[in-house]
Amino acid sequence: MSRYDNLEYRRAGRSGLDLPVFSLGLWQKFGTDFSYDTQRAIVLHAFELGITHFDNADRYGPPSRAAQQFFGKVLRRDLAGHRDELILTTKAGNPIGDGPYQQGGSRKSLLSSLDNSLRDLGVDYVDVFYHHRADLSTPLEETVGALVSAVQRGKALYVGVSNYDPARTAEIAALLRVAGVPLLVHQPRYSILDRSIEENGLLDTATADGFGVVVYSPLAQGLLTDKYLTGIPAGARARTSAFLKPEQITDEYRRRATILNKLAADRGQTLAQLALQWVLRRPEITSALIGASSTGQLDHNLGALAFPALTDDELAIIDGAI
Ligand code: NDP
Repeated sequence: MSRYDNLEYRRAGRSGLDLPVFSLGLWQKFGTDFSYDTQRAIVLHAFELGITHFDNADRYGPPSRAAQQFFGKVLRRDLAGHRDELILTTKAGNPIGDGPYQQGGSRKSLLSSLDNSLRDLGVDYVDVFYHHRADLSTPLEETVGALVSAVQRGKALYVGVSNYDPARTAEIAALLRVAGVPLLVHQPRYSILDRSIEENGLLDTATADGFGVVVYSPLAQGLLTDKYLTGIPAGARARTSAFLKPEQITDEYRRRATILNKLAADRGQTLAQLALQWVLRRPEITSALIGASSTGQLDHNLGALAFPALTDDELAIIDGAI
């Protein structure tokens, strides 16, 4: 039994690259404010489980750059012999400081961030270089030029975009195709609690343009687990992060989560496992990008793959709950 027998791998759009259906993101709890030993154990356990794809960004920490510096350390000490088996991503363009070259979509911002990321990770190239979010003040041609340069200089194998709306995604996909560097993936948010990419046409654009979709926050940062049903546990993200606030744990949230939790229990699984199966039900989705604060969460969440597909009746209950 090899680590690659654990997980399904899906082709990213019409590329040649397969990604695991679960990928690990280092956005939260991989900065200097959490235990290195726990973080290291999570990354190594993920790889043992067949998670080959690790998602990072220049700004992940805190402070900015810390998550990549952490990953670089683990790569050097523990995974040095496995670089060819790993898909490492980074992103640039979300603010990492107040300076004009520490954000946006200019050639200067993107390529200097990429150089810093390569240094922090201790690698010659990343597998996917993303523009983290659209920058309407920069001509798309300039952003495309920077992404294409990254590939031509051997600093990235593929390129992606994140948080772009469908129209701008179609536009950049067309420009990249002409430049001979097709858009590999889009990284949007997607979960039972945020279905906007179904409604705004992004999934249709993915099919038409042939890029994969790597979705983030499939558990809505933990809201789609049972942990907030009766309170806010110590150490949970709603207590530790500026991105999930206790005010979001409302009565309406608990009403919805309780319905979903009951459905999951009727299926013999947990809410987290139900929520992860739900995002992977769509063929356009290449991978669900999960976070984890323990190895136990990884084991638990990958357990989602053991359950039968959701039926039409069950999908209708989910639609009705939201
Ligand atoms: P999730 O929705 O999977 O949330 C993960 C968090 O939920 C964990 O860190 C943990 O938080 C909690 N959790 C996970 N499993 C369980 C469980 N079984 N039981 C109870 N709690 C659980 O994804 P994230 O929001 O972390 O996003 C994943 C990745 O996506 C990021 O790391 C990043 O790589 C990417 N991302 C990209 C963005 C972009 O703009 N491109 C934006 C946001 C994310 P805890 O234990 O701390 O409460």
